[in-house]
Amino acid sequence: MDYQALADLLFPDVTDTPEMLEERFPVRNLPEGAVVTRMAPSPTGFVHLGNLVQGLTSERMAHQSGGVLFLRVEDTDAKREVPGAVEVLINTLKHYGIHFDEGASLEGDVGIYGPYHQSKRAAIYHVYAKKLVAEGKAYPCFCTEEELTAMRETQETNKENTGYYGKYAMWRDRPMEDIQAQLDAGNPWVLRFRSTGSIENQFKFDDLVKGKLTITENDVDHVLLKSDGIPTYHFAHAVDDHLMRTTHVVRGDEWLPSLPFHIQLFKALGFKLPKYVHIGPLMKMDGASKRKLSKRKDPELALTYYKAEGFPVEAVCEYMMTVLNSNFEDWRRANPDAPIDAFKFSPKKLNPAGSLFDYAKLTDVSKNVIAKMDASKVYHLLTQWAEEFDPDFAARLTADPAFATAILAIGRGGKKPRKDIAVWKEAKAYMGFFYDAYLEKPVFDEKFDRAVISRALRLFLDRFDMADDSAAWFDKVKAITEELGFTTDMKAYKADPAAFPGTVADVSTFIRQAVTGKTNSPDLYTVMQILGYDRTVARIQAVMEQL
Ligand code: GLU
Repeated sequence: MDYQALADLLFPDVTDTPEMLEERFPVRNLPEGAVVTRMAPSPTGFVHLGNLVQGLTSERMAHQSGGVLFLRVEDTDAKREVPGAVEVLINTLKHYGIHFDEGASLEGDVGIYGPYHQSKRAAIYHVYAKKLVAEGKAYPCFCTEEELTAMRETQETNKENTGYYGKYAMWRDRPMEDIQAQLDAGNPWVLRFRSTGSIENQFKFDDLVKGKLTITENDVDHVLLKSDGIPTYHFAHAVDDHLMRTTHVVRGDEWLPSLPFHIQLFKALGFKLPKYVHIGPLMKMDGASKRKLSKRKDPELALTYYKAEGFPVEAVCEYMMTVLNSNFEDWRRANPDAPIDAFKFSPKKLNPAGSLFDYAKLTDVSKNVIAKMDASKVYHLLTQWAEEFDPDFAARLTADPAFATAILAIGRGGKKPRKDIAVWKEAKAYMGFFYDAYLEKPVFDEKFDRAVISRALRLFLDRFDMADDSAAWFDKVKAITEELGFTTDMKAYKADPAAFPGTVADVSTFIRQAVTGKTNSPDLYTVMQILGYDRTVARIQAVMEQL
């Protein structure tokens, strides 16, 4: 068979050569050890934790080595494409601090290795398709759907491996006349790889996450180009990652079964194989057993979920690092204030079997991260969140930034900062009472006489002085306690509760409820300092009127 003639017959319009492409997309001029990697999503519109895992892994590997991270859009499957999906993806990853140096962007392509949408690269793939045909490494296949189904049925009946291989590869060695006749009849064809592998052969392969793997050769003549001339993922991946000079392919381990074919394909094309980083799935505990996070069952798989709940980006990234690198937590303990990027990320520390995602732990990490922020940062992030998810709250926060910031400063700083907020969604329940619109009516404990509560509040109002320091303020509360016949001696009370009508804690609660509407609040003295004299007094008076 004259393979060159076949190549010219199949691709008459392809005049570019691989050499021309090598020149057009030159080897990158980067320092030794610099990692060039990419995200190569199919634009389906759903951005999930898996994307973040892949994003953080590739981002860290590229940027901590002085390399390049680029975005390539794998839009060869028009049926699955969702309009606007690329924008959503770029914006979501940007929200999590993942910036691309190159590739598809909201302003169009950036970089010289484009186009970065696979749908615009048909001419490039065809150059290599033609080359493979000319070298006898690929051939057209005119099998119909019916023939392929019949083949699979035969294989299943015979309990053989399914697929287009060996004696089942009907078009592998057909003469030129047969091909010409099909083409003349205008029948559709796909381009298949001519596999020279055998499932009898195995070889060793090193994956950066999975470690040493024993791989069985591929013997299937997989499709390279579909009948519309669009490449399959396999072929596009090989051509693109070669020409875009990718050094590391970071992707989900659902691609591991295709790896034997990819290795073969790179070799057939004369390309240097990149390093592979196959990431295991994210798992969660479901009862006593682990399972993969699922789009259908787990709303927390979607990245939009974390934004809406109000997890700060820093907290999500911090937690994801603990998931990705087993030594991150030790590093964090030793470097409590270091920026996260100072941590030396290693793909080798990823769990090859997949990582466990623990929502409770994320919440915990988030509490710590927020507790460490200063009040103005909390104000800024909370307002940003509220503007999108609770505009009414946002309007109140921004009406008086100094007031909001003073509230958020309570218990901040120092060795043991308060950990009241895990997500911005909880902030309103925590601090809403400072705003009259969100103040709830107090529900006093039935066991106390309304007249006693009223008297306690009266006594407090009579003595309330904004100039008091916190000790003087509390001395007054204690004095009121005594006057009411309640006790300040908590030990004595515990020993014989029936001996007292109540304690200083109860009196504090009366005042707290009158001022905040709640039995729990941050330090009451500070609350009053922030509310100011007039508002504190007005609130207590309003409650007294209703008692
Ligand atoms: N488009 C493929 C996917 O979304 C990309 C895999 C890869 O990163 O190579 O799974």
